[in-house]
Amino acid sequence: MEATQEFIYRSKLPDIHIPNHLPLHSYCFQHISKFSSNPCLINAGNGNIYTYADVHLTARKVAAGLNRLGIRQGDVIMLLLQNCPEFVFSFLGASYLGATSTTANPSYTPAEIEKQATASSARIIITQACFAEKVKEFAEENDVQIICIDAPVAGCFHFSELSQADENDIPDVSISPDDVVALPYSSGTVGLPKGVMLTHKSMITSVAQQVDGENPNLYFHLDDVILCVLPMFHIYSLSSVVLCGLRVGAAILIMQKFEINTLMELVQKHKVTIAPFVPPILLAIAKSPVAHQYDLSSIRTVISGAAPMGKELEDSLGSKLPNAVIGQGYGMTEAGPVLSMCLAFAKEPFEIKSGACGTVVRNAEMKIINPETGASLPPNQAGEICIRGDQIMKGYLNDIEATKEAIDEEKWLHTGDIGYMDDNDELFIVDRLKEIIKNRGFQVAPAELEAILIAHPNIVDAAVVPMKDEAAGEVPVAFIVRSNGFEITEDEIMEYIAKQVVYYKRIKRVFFIETIPKAPSGKILRKDLKAKLAAG
Ligand code: AMP
Repeated sequence: MEATQEFIYRSKLPDIHIPNHLPLHSYCFQHISKFSSNPCLINAGNGNIYTYADVHLTARKVAAGLNRLGIRQGDVIMLLLQNCPEFVFSFLGASYLGATSTTANPSYTPAEIEKQATASSARIIITQACFAEKVKEFAEENDVQIICIDAPVAGCFHFSELSQADENDIPDVSISPDDVVALPYSSGTVGLPKGVMLTHKSMITSVAQQVDGENPNLYFHLDDVILCVLPMFHIYSLSSVVLCGLRVGAAILIMQKFEINTLMELVQKHKVTIAPFVPPILLAIAKSPVAHQYDLSSIRTVISGAAPMGKELEDSLGSKLPNAVIGQGYGMTEAGPVLSMCLAFAKEPFEIKSGACGTVVRNAEMKIINPETGASLPPNQAGEICIRGDQIMKGYLNDIEATKEAIDEEKWLHTGDIGYMDDNDELFIVDRLKEIIKNRGFQVAPAELEAILIAHPNIVDAAVVPMKDEAAGEVPVAFIVRSNGFEITEDEIMEYIAKQVVYYKRIKRVFFIETIPKAPSGKILRKDLKAKLAAG
C-alpha cells in the first residue's frame, strides 16, 4: 500500500538549544550578571524603577514570604492584579517555591473569581485593595488568605510582609521541568474555561522560541524599552512581554491599564522601542485625532496578536508609526502560547506578507489537517492548525477528557483555528472552527454564557455566537428561545447577563427564535446561527 505523504512545516530558522531543564526563574535570570544594574521594571504610574538586581532579590524575598505564609511546592496562588511590578515578583516568587500561579482578570465578578479560585484550589489571592471586597467572603469561607499589594485592608495581609522576608529563607525544593508553574484559564476549542497547565519546560521553551539563539527573531534587545500594556494575567503579555523582556535584559514599562492618550504620552516620554499590542489598541492609535501630537517614532517593532489584524488597519498605521515594522504573531494559551511569528524582526529580515501570522516558531512542528479525515494538507490548502513541541501545555487541570480532545496520541495540539501555509511557509489564519469569541483579544466562552442564560426561568434554550464589531473584533450575541407564555425582553436579558460577568462577556444583541438549530448529538449548529446573522 502506498504510504500517505505527511506535510509538516517547520521554522525558516534553524533549531536552537533550549535550556528547558531549568526552573523558569533560573532561566529568566540566567544572564542577569550582564545587566544587573539595568532597569528591569518601570512602573509608569508612580515612576518607580526596579533594576534587574532589585527584581531578582525581591522575587526571592517574596518566595520566602510566601513560604512563611504556608505556601509549599505544588500549591496554587491566584494573581488577581492589574499590571504592576508585584505581579512579576509574585509570579517569580511562586516559581522559586515550585508553586503555581493561576492568573485571573481583576475585573471579573465575584462569581467568576470564585469559580477559578475553587477549581484551581488557590490558597492565597494576591490583589489590590480596590478588588479585595470582591473576594473577602469567599476567602473567609474557604480559608484562603488575601494579600493586598497597596493600601492596607482589614483582615488581609500586606504585600510588605512578603517583600520584607529574608531571601535566604527559601526552602530547598527540587523542581521538575514538568511541574506546573502557570495556570491561566481558557475554554480551548469547546466548553467552559479550564485550567491550562503550563510547565517550567513549556514556558521556557516558548520564551526561547521567541527570543533565544544564535540567529534569533531578535526583536528584543538588551537596550529595548518594551511597553507592557496588555494584561499580565493573559499569557500573551506574561510570556511574550514580561518573560521575554526579562530573558533579554530589556526595560519593561508597566502601564496599569489601557488608555490611549496616556499610552502615546508614555511612548514619547520613555522612548518605547517595542510595542506588543492587540488590534483594538492599533485601531485606537489609527483613529486617534491627536496621535500626530505625540512623537511615536521611537517604536521600531509592533507585534499584533490575540486576534486577526485586517489589512486596512495595517495600512492605516504607517504614518502614525513612521519607523515601526508591524508584524503579527499567533498564539493560543494552550500552545504555551506562541505558534508562529513574523520574522521581519530577525537579523536577516524576511519579507512581511500582509495578513500573514509569520512562520512556525523554532523547535516545533506544525501541520494543517483536514478536520474530517485528519490527513495533513499541502501548502495553500486550508484546514485545522495543529502544533507539536515542548512548549505546549501539559493538559487541562483535572480534565483528562478535555485534554485528550485537545492533544492527540501523537502529541499534536489541535487549535480549532483554520488556516493555510503558503509556498513561503507563511501561515494565514482564515477562520475558526472552535466556539470561542474574541472580544478585544479576550476570550468569551459561549458555553459559559449559555449556562447562565438557560438558568433564567423565562428562557428554555439559548445559543451565543460572535458578531463582527469594528472596535472589538467580535462581540457575543444571543439567540434565545423563551419559555412558553413568559415574557422577557432584550434589555432584561442583557442586564441579567451584565450583572454576572466581566464587561467584555456582556451580550450585545438578543435575537428571539423558535428553536436553536442542533445536530442529532445535541450540539448547537453555530454555523447556521452565524449564517442567520450574516443574512441580517
Ligand atoms: P488565547 O488562548 O486567549 O490567546 O486565544 C487564542 C486564540 O486567539 C487562537 O486560537 C486564535 O483563534 C486567536 N488568535 C490569536 N492570535 C491570532 C492572530 N494573529 N490572528 C487571528 N487569530 C488569532
